[in-house]
Amino acid sequence: MSKIQMKTPLVEMDGDEMTRVIWQMIKDELLTPFIDLKTEYYDLGLENRDRTDDQVTVDSALATKKYGVAVKCATITPNAARVKEYGLKKMWKSPNGTIRAILDGTVFRAPIVVKGIEPTVRTWKKPITIARHAYGDVYRATEMKVPGAGKAELVFTDENGNETRQTIHEFDGPGIIQGMHNINKSIDSFAHACFNYALETKQDLWFATKDTISKQYDHTFKDIFQEIYDAEYKEKFEKAGIEYFYTLIDDAVARVIRSEGGFIWACKNYDGDVMSDMVATAFGSLAMMTSVLAAPDGTYEYEAAHGTVQRHYYKYKAGEETSTNSVATIFAWTGALRKRGQLDDIPELVNFADRLEKATIDTIEGGTMTGDLARISTLENVRKVSTLDFIKAVRSTLEQLPA
Ligand code: NAP
Ligand code: MG
Repeated sequence: MSKIQMKTPLVEMDGDEMTRVIWQMIKDELLTPFIDLKTEYYDLGLENRDRTDDQVTVDSALATKKYGVAVKCATITPNAARVKEYGLKKMWKSPNGTIRAILDGTVFRAPIVVKGIEPTVRTWKKPITIARHAYGDVYRATEMKVPGAGKAELVFTDENGNETRQTIHEFDGPGIIQGMHNINKSIDSFAHACFNYALETKQDLWFATKDTISKQYDHTFKDIFQEIYDAEYKEKFEKAGIEYFYTLIDDAVARVIRSEGGFIWACKNYDGDVMSDMVATAFGSLAMMTSVLAAPDGTYEYEAAHGTVQRHYYKYKAGEETSTNSVATIFAWTGALRKRGQLDDIPELVNFADRLEKATIDTIEGGTMTGDLARISTLENVRKVSTLDFIKAVRSTLEQLPA
């Protein structure tokens, strides 16, 4: 059987610990036997980031802008303990933060739904994708403890020195204040990324804020989304048979719980932080969450939502058997290969991505899975296997699938 040929390279961002081990296994067992894999390789493993003074992270993001599609392995975000463990020159910033800042993207997270792993919410039949705005609000806020009586004001000074003032509160005793901001340009990008992703995946888009209470701040989010929708996306949505739906955040939460799933839920930064953990947990497992960074210029970076699974890696290094779930990392590869296939018009590559995803799901639904899923599966004949044996089982399912 001849291997599938690629035209443009994928930007490959290697990473750390257990996911780095899995990365290689996936390439050896599931990709290179079938595809003449063409990648531009960037080693984002912590040692190489340290060696290159983190230049490799910047280079990989620039390459993603150039080629359009990247696939990323989970990476360590250093803290004090990691600086010591790896003898780092400094506490390098989060690679995901660096890449996101360069690509100006929005992160979409969606669970992989399989039989036997039942969502906590009985009505959920299809995945719910969370799109989290990744700039500003409380994450960039300035806060102050008010020591005692006094007046707090909001002051804006324009370029010519003209001031606009508003009273926040006349304190008669101690309290607290907070000033936060966002930028219209960032909200624009967020809106475009959401509308494009909805069209791309043919799913309805929901957006919610608290505009009835926050009549300037949240209302601006609502207005920007509506203006962009009416001007650029309304017709495209109607043609695609999908809907843009705005409501209040508390109403949205109630509707999400009653829904069947199968839509994108766009969230402001804080809402997205909180709701993505709720949705991920309610769907069953962090190891089954995919994540894609979509930029407004149509650039995509695919990864797993989980980290480097450090605890399993130490077992692996000690020579013990591990049973680490590779599904989200496999789906990062299939997402990137499918996108590359679509952009370069290589139907065999798109078809391969579809089949590898099907083989992965069929393997789990057939009862063969890693420990994290075996613990929660409702199937009757569950076989817990090791990290490598799971990947080998997927390969054998794939080889038996009709072309
Ligand atoms: P983690 O790697 O997501 O793992 C947390 C726990 O979740 C694991 O100990 C394991 O539970 C379970 N788990 C996660 N993924 C799993 C998988 N694929 N298969 C089986 N179980 C899985 O988070 P962490 O241990 O807190 O962080 C480790 C490193 O990852 C940190 O250095 C952090 O900076 C980095 N990180 C990177 C990214 C990224 O690159 N996108 C995201 C998050 C964290 P049990 O131990 O109970 O089996
Ligand atoms: Mg969080």
